[in-house]
Amino acid sequence: MAKKQFKAESKKLLDLMINSIYTNKEIFLRELISNANDALDKLSYKSLTDKSLKVDRKKLQIKISIDKERRTLTIKDNGIGMDKEELSTNLGTIAKSGSLDFKEALEKKDKVNIIGQFGVGFYSAFMVSNKVVVESKKAGEEEAYKWESSGADGYEISKIDKDDIGTTITLYIKENEKDENYDEYLEEFKIKSLIKKYSDYVTYPIKMDVLDEKTKKVSETDAINNMIPLWKKDKKKIKEEDYYNFYQEKFFDYAKPLKVIHTKAEGLISYDALMFIPANPPYDFYNKDYEKGLQLYSNGVLIMEKCSDLLPDYLNFVKGVVDSPDLSLNISREMLQQNRQLKIIAKNIEKKILKELAEMLEKERDKYEVFFKTFGVNIKYGVYDNFGAKKDDLKDLVIFYSSKEKKNVTLKEYVSRMDEKEDTIYYACGETISKIDMMPQVESLKDKNKEILYLTDYVDEFVLKMLDKYNDKKFVNIATNDFDLSSEDEKKELNKKNEESKEMFDLMKKELGEEVSNIKFTNKLKKHPLCLTSEGEVTVEMQKVINAMPTDEHVNAKLVLEINENHEIAKKLKDLFENDKETLKKYTKILYNEARIIEGLPVENPTELSNLVCEMLSK
Ligand code: ADP
Repeated sequence: MAKKQFKAESKKLLDLMINSIYTNKEIFLRELISNANDALDKLSYKSLTDKSLKVDRKKLQIKISIDKERRTLTIKDNGIGMDKEELSTNLGTIAKSGSLDFKEALEKKDKVNIIGQFGVGFYSAFMVSNKVVVESKKAGEEEAYKWESSGADGYEISKIDKDDIGTTITLYIKENEKDENYDEYLEEFKIKSLIKKYSDYVTYPIKMDVLDEKTKKVSETDAINNMIPLWKKDKKKIKEEDYYNFYQEKFFDYAKPLKVIHTKAEGLISYDALMFIPANPPYDFYNKDYEKGLQLYSNGVLIMEKCSDLLPDYLNFVKGVVDSPDLSLNISREMLQQNRQLKIIAKNIEKKILKELAEMLEKERDKYEVFFKTFGVNIKYGVYDNFGAKKDDLKDLVIFYSSKEKKNVTLKEYVSRMDEKEDTIYYACGETISKIDMMPQVESLKDKNKEILYLTDYVDEFVLKMLDKYNDKKFVNIATNDFDLSSEDEKKELNKKNEESKEMFDLMKKELGEEVSNIKFTNKLKKHPLCLTSEGEVTVEMQKVINAMPTDEHVNAKLVLEINENHEIAKKLKDLFENDKETLKKYTKILYNEARIIEGLPVENPTELSNLVCEMLSK
């Protein structure tokens, strides 16, 4: 029979496994047991709805046996099994993007450390075997098939006779090498200790067939694993390592989670929840078909792989499991959505996660910064999602860069430093901290010893608009027209000056046409000559964000060109108005475009601007 070839990516990964210099080869057993566990879960889950599958849950198990003479180690499960097609696609290709991620990580980082931290799956069998045979019969099917491969040169699939449903994987263990002892994987004692070490919490019994040396009789052991799932164990008895291993294996992450949340509720509704906040976005987080959700169990039996109703959208990055004996095993997806218990659990879980985040913010600030860098945008999204329904729960979890502290601060911290009489929280928007720092308006405000929040994320301003106020303090964008710190007298004085130059401004405005809604003198710029602000609801930053979205929606901020009345340029303009109106028009264009550049807006006609500047420079 012709050999089938592995897909290119799979072949590479397989090569890595076969020639692995990795010292921790023993994890292969964990990987195969984990696959068997999944297959048992799948069968158990399927039997909930498919009554034609007569599954006795009590009999679901994993069986391991050793044949020293043939040098084989066999892992057998009575789970869902695979048909011919699945044997080919599942074992001939890397199906999961997690494995691909792993491969990429492997290419970047050092090969030795990474394997053990990653769910590398089935192929890890080749770290210890020179041949692997998989025999499988899928639940509900008549035929059974065998998949076999001796490594990277391909695999063969053939029809076999197999009575029982499930999968049997036989590893032909490699001969010992100079620095590598493979014999130990044929030792009962070693295998037992590996089961204890890596797979203790697997919820199905893992038994062994052992040979009595004297009687030469084979007998079956009791379950070697403890079988209590990690989430049901007593918190005090769980080591940090146990949580990390569980998380990495179950949720395909090679990094440790940033936070483990393990909680138990008893009373009207009881449940155990074990949740994780990842340190990095999940590998498929930015795929458009990424699905949020927690695994849902009822008394240790999986009833839903991803229960999305357990998490609000903004917490879609949270991974974990929830186990509640109050949920019926036979509940359908549709019923589940209506389920009152589930709604209560979801509400409690959300509260718990937010409480943990608040605690992290308070007690582990550095960690929170890491969290916020990755998932801050989720929290911000939570603030304005659903018309701000959750904004009060979330307002103390957002942080922004502060001009005064030179680091991220909460709104609470900002307000605590405010003068009692002060009623305004100032903010400025821009691309980067350093760009905002250079804004003309920022300087004058800093001069008055005011603290400014620097908003660099495109959603930031929408968040503040949604919050509207924080503890009765209003938010003011310092790049808007209504931002004004001057006294009544100063205002009067300025108004007078603007009135006096009305004709000049009219001429300048005419030159710019629709582009600006107003041009005026200002006293809020210290030594900078000019700035561009906006009046009305739409700010310049909002205009940028909305217009960059892939929708047809376009908005235009009403722009105001403000010129520092104390700057030389103000005098010059007045002078030109009296003596050389044509040059004034050219100045107007140059100044307006300069202001656009400072605000981070595009210059519509760079050639014209360049020509005008050169013309003036040549004078
Ligand atoms: P994964 O991380 O997805 O488990 P693997 O390479 O370990 O990746 O396995 C690939 C796929 O092969 C699995 O997703 C599963 O569909 C199938 N598979 C592996 N082992 C078994 C088994 N014992 N029973 C049924 N299906 C299995």
